[in-house]
Amino acid sequence: MRATNLYAPTLRNTPAEAEIASHQLMYRAGLIRKSAGGMYTYLPLAWRTIRKIEQIIREEMDAAGGQEIMMPILQPSELWEESGRWAAYGAEMIRVKDRHAREFCMGPTHEEMITALVRDELRSYKQLPVLLYQIQDKFRDERRPRFGVMRSREFIMKDLYSFDKDIEGMNESYRKMYVAYTNVFTRCGLDFRAVEADSGAIGGGHSEEFTVLAPEGESRIACCDVCSYAASDEKAALRPIDASHEEELPLEKVATPGTHTIALLAEYLKIPVEKTIKAVAYQSEDDTLILAFLRGDHEVNEIKLANAVPGARELRMADEEAIRAAGGCPGFMSPIGIKEGTHIVVDETAMRMHNAVSGANEADFHYTNVNPQRDFGAVTVADIRLVEEGDECPVCEHGHLHIGRGIEAGQIFALGTKYSAAMGATFLDETGKSQPLQMGCYGIGVGRTMAAAIEQNHDESGIIWPRAIAPYEVVVVAVNAKVEEQLRYAEEIYEELRAAGIDVLLDDRRERAGVKFNDCDLIGYPVRIAIGPKTIENGSIEVKLRKSGELVNFARGTYLKGVQDMLAAL
Ligand code: ATP
Ligand code: MG
Repeated sequence: MRATNLYAPTLRNTPAEAEIASHQLMYRAGLIRKSAGGMYTYLPLAWRTIRKIEQIIREEMDAAGGQEIMMPILQPSELWEESGRWAAYGAEMIRVKDRHAREFCMGPTHEEMITALVRDELRSYKQLPVLLYQIQDKFRDERRPRFGVMRSREFIMKDLYSFDKDIEGMNESYRKMYVAYTNVFTRCGLDFRAVEADSGAIGGGHSEEFTVLAPEGESRIACCDVCSYAASDEKAALRPIDASHEEELPLEKVATPGTHTIALLAEYLKIPVEKTIKAVAYQSEDDTLILAFLRGDHEVNEIKLANAVPGARELRMADEEAIRAAGGCPGFMSPIGIKEGTHIVVDETAMRMHNAVSGANEADFHYTNVNPQRDFGAVTVADIRLVEEGDECPVCEHGHLHIGRGIEAGQIFALGTKYSAAMGATFLDETGKSQPLQMGCYGIGVGRTMAAAIEQNHDESGIIWPRAIAPYEVVVVAVNAKVEEQLRYAEEIYEELRAAGIDVLLDDRRERAGVKFNDCDLIGYPVRIAIGPKTIENGSIEVKLRKSGELVNFARGTYLKGVQDMLAAL
């Protein structure tokens, strides 16, 4: 490809809405353009990268026994009624009607459709396992689309679904996918961690996320400094912290004027925040009031909290009215004296405190000498705390958890029979008994993987592509393309590299050298070859590595081997 024919409009400025480096660089390097909120066109350079990522994914899915198919994007509502997700999916699902007023959604994921596909024809244990996948646009009307293609409303996903005859089989398919995902992200040249994850709206049992490490990433992950435990912050299990033993004192109500925050309370009573119990009030979709109580210095993990309350999925902050109707007083909350019908969840650590201070459900009053085991009555006790830097590892003896940030590029789920049971997808086992299929599902965000690669690999001048997913591996720049000799020499080198099977672009534009070199750095080709006056003079060929900035001059006879070695070492 010649740069004179390439549609890659580079920009000097960054659009104001681009908050993070990858979004800014994808704009500036001429990779994407926005068509509407959360919807983007991939321009030629980006599309080459997408195709390379997809190729890696295809090779690894096929190697793991996957077979590629293509399902419709539009999915009839009836299928989603069967699984119960037509109602449950909420506003994120884009719904449309056909001319007969029949309802469809633009597929946000395909568990229902694939389960319906196999339920009539995958009938015998002899046919199992089956692994089917597709690479296709998905649609989710995200609450906050942002960061360009990282969190968009239309995005490319690889989704694979596995069908097995028993749990062992499902676990084996899951394990194969774990290996395949590890291979995909390794081959893409990314630094990533597989972390235990919450299974969210997809549901099912065990799940892991593949998180590309990047300081600006939206995901927080917790990793043990001793063992291999790693989990997303939504999932990270925590050991309850035991308070040192104290003689239980009698409950007392004391006046604490104006202390509606934990900080004010601790200051007023001259006690450490660790001696206080705080409350956070939520309501679920059906308006049930959910009161969470934690040690004063701890934060609520809303995912864990929702998981601890049967039937609760999405939590919102509670209305003051609802809190008062239940007998509570905002800023002075306690489980003691709350009316029935409210769901009270106390964190395991808070439950182990002695002689603590909590609200008294009355403005300007708190209880002291609160002993939750003695005083709280029938409450749900669960780990609902958000992990913090330095928390004890839940798995090993001596480890502590460290918080890092990253981008979730893929997720794998052991689903079990959630969809097959609901939708009647059964097979006959060895004994002739009808059983629901054991399923797994496995997604990779293709566009998000590309954005994550840039987020992880860039500097102030631009993108630094990992070789395997660079739009072109090498760019040959005719330093002054108006000089016929330079242009012809550059064309010769370009043809030689092409003949050697290298993915190369020729920058033959009649632009100033500085402009072209800046574009090379911005777009981030791994290797740049400059053909300038020196080359014409003495045959010396300058090769620059984008990543290290290292410059090497080769002779005409040795440059090809030199470039091949440099590429191989990337
Ligand atoms: P998130 O928690 O970031 O919203 P998710 O867990 O809902 O993502 P999955 O259902 O696991 O997403 O989808 C599989 C993969 O699809 C994700 O790991 C991610 O790479 C990609 N993906 C999901 N939502 C988006 C989006 N809005 N834009 C781009 N890629 C997405
Ligand atoms: Mg996910």
